Amino acid sequence: MPLTQSTSQIETAQAIESLLQYAISNLDFKQENLNCARNMIFNRLKISCSVQNATNIESVNSILNKLANYAVNSGICPPDEKENLKAELIGYLIPQPYEIIKNFDEIFTDKGPNFAMEYFYNIAVKGNYINKDKISKTVTHCFNGTYSPLYLSVNSMKKESSFNEKTYKDKMPSSEKPFPLCPLCSENEGAYNGAKSNLRLLPIELGGSFWNIQFSPFPYFKKHIIVSYSQHIPMKNDIKKFEAMIDFSTVFEDYFIASNTELENIGGSLLCHEHMQGGLKNLPIFNAEEKERFYSKKYENINLSLLEWYLPVFKITSDDKIQLLSAIEDIVNAFINYNDESINLICKTEKNQHSSVNTVCYNENGKTVFLIIPRNNRTSEQCPKGIFCPDESCKEIKKEGIGIIEIMGYFILPSRLICDSVLLIDFLTGKSKTDLKEKNSVYSEYSSMLAQLINDYGINMTVSKAKDIITDYINIKCQTMLEQSAVFKNNEEGKKAIDKFLSSVNLIKLN
Ligand SMILES: [Zn+2]
Repeated sequence: MPLTQSTSQIETAQAIESLLQYAISNLDFKQENLNCARNMIFNRLKISCSVQNATNIESVNSILNKLANYAVNSGICPPDEKENLKAELIGYLIPQPYEIIKNFDEIFTDKGPNFAMEYFYNIAVKGNYINKDKISKTVTHCFNGTYSPLYLSVNSMKKESSFNEKTYKDKMPSSEKPFPLCPLCSENEGAYNGAKSNLRLLPIELGGSFWNIQFSPFPYFKKHIIVSYSQHIPMKNDIKKFEAMIDFSTVFEDYFIASNTELENIGGSLLCHEHMQGGLKNLPIFNAEEKERFYSKKYENINLSLLEWYLPVFKITSDDKIQLLSAIEDIVNAFINYNDESINLICKTEKNQHSSVNTVCYNENGKTVFLIIPRNNRTSEQCPKGIFCPDESCKEIKKEGIGIIEIMGYFILPSRLICDSVLLIDFLTGKSKTDLKEKNSVYSEYSSMLAQLINDYGINMTVSKAKDIITDYINIKCQTMLEQSAVFKNNEEGKKAIDKFLSSVNLIKLN
């Protein structure tokens, strides 16, 4: 064996020992399983040297990177499978699903749901399913919008185009049905493909149906979870889901749970698999004030209000689950079948449903709160991207549709904005002489932004001024994206239309 390979085998064996020690300290890995696990990893990486002492390596991700780099360099693992191999190696060491469910249930009984969830979260972090090294590269800033602060986050982990149903199927050979059918199917637990060997699911019964909780590997905010239906069925917004959301928020009081619509182009991805998203209740919308209150003779045990927000949000509060569900169902059904030509709202054309709702549920002072946000994805000749969707100029900042996370005041922006801003600053400070009209240049991607900024400020500003005006432009565009997504606009016409809709469901304005 060549000396270099022998040396790197020794280093790799040292890193394996570090990984095993890490698992003992962080993943409740038992000493009794040590030899067995070490041999499995030795076999996988074709290590033939003796057992070495552990070395100090910064983080679990850096240990796994070291092992995966060795495997790639030795031809054991194709370079594009490096992340899969990292997940596989740590997957040998994290508790198996049965053990996690058992531990979760015990902690739930002894200490309560939030401690149990904390245990499950720690498995996802310590088991490197949530990669903390990558999260630390996410840049977030706060912008004081008209109604409340908005958070803008540039997420380095997420590709800009959403991984939707169509693109997933397109990746598969046409003759073969993909297995699992999509990335949210429960069969992904422990799968090598997609780097899910370290994925663990927590089965839970909500609203009389079965779901699986997992922490998102690409968290946008604190404790970002995905709750997916136990079977591969399409997204829908029906009473069973609303009940599941209420049950979830009743048990996990620190968390909210929310859902995108089942329709395309208004923010949801993976519409092929029913799912919801949640996290800790600290997104901007949870601080929104109530601006108008409504009363219903039919529902004496609920409070209904309209929030002071960038687009209309109906807030229903109650501790009476039956009345709450009934009120939610009435309002949602009324809206998805509602037409109002004065604001260009048409719920259905031919066989295509256009109106739907975003929903959010959480606990507030012991009562359940349910938010309903009307959405519509109809397009027209003048608005090919959607009548109630951000206009073409907003795509320069964010190409994907506005989904429930943005609706709650948290924008996920593409990482290209960071590198492209450097080039835009060059232009605005007169450093770059590229012709703006030159096709395929980065400037053509931002033609609306540059046209406005050059018109307002010229092209001889300082670097710090250029940085500021680009940030201001992006901030304002994010607020505009929310306002343009509103079915009922925040103007006289929109206010009249919303009153008309609410009176159609027998809700009477108070005060
Ligand atoms: Zn699925």
